[in-house]
Amino acid sequence: MSARAKIVKKAKVAEVIEKPKIVLLDWDGTLVCDQKGEFGNEVLMPEAYSAIRILRRNGWNLAIVTNQPGASERRITEIEIVSSRLFNIGIKVFCCRHRREDGCGCRKPMHKLLTNAINYFCYDFQFESAWIVGDKWSDVLAAERSSVFYSGRVKACKVGDFGYHQKGTTPLPGNLPVPDLFVKDIGVFASIAISGVI
Ligand SMILES: [Mg+2]
Ligand SMILES: [Zn+2]
Repeated sequence: MSARAKIVKKAKVAEVIEKPKIVLLDWDGTLVCDQKGEFGNEVLMPEAYSAIRILRRNGWNLAIVTNQPGASERRITEIEIVSSRLFNIGIKVFCCRHRREDGCGCRKPMHKLLTNAINYFCYDFQFESAWIVGDKWSDVLAAERSSVFYSGRVKACKVGDFGYHQKGTTPLPGNLPVPDLFVKDIGVFASIAISGVI
């Protein structure tokens, strides 16, 4: 192989490495049942385990992006421990610990949690594909807000009931963003993702 061919080959390899496929996963209501209970007793969504394994096996980079207002450092570590116990793999956790009234830039539907997670996987602000999978409108809006930082769009997959009902007092924005995909659960997302359609 000539020196030039070697360089071209190297460049091609670098291109593949620098354009990752990324799935950012919401925690409550997406990977585990959304319950306000004792932490550490999460009930895994039935489809979550196989979905994670399928995505991983097919080359998707995975991270968890979650709002945990008021959580301690210990609790974040616990999410990492719980997720690695549940899935038998280490998954990086990006967590906003602020409360709504703090007005931070990372609490979904703001973008920073997502952009931090995406930038963790890519060096040049480019990706082959980037998705957030979540159960709330705030996940979808965070994807839309993240997209302005990249040449490609950060797409959103809404799981769970097909409406935008959200418990609590969060006011819904006037124009709700439209997810790129509506699916029943993360298992359906995983099968669509590995089919190469998205
Ligand atoms: Mg959620
Ligand atoms: Zn925050």
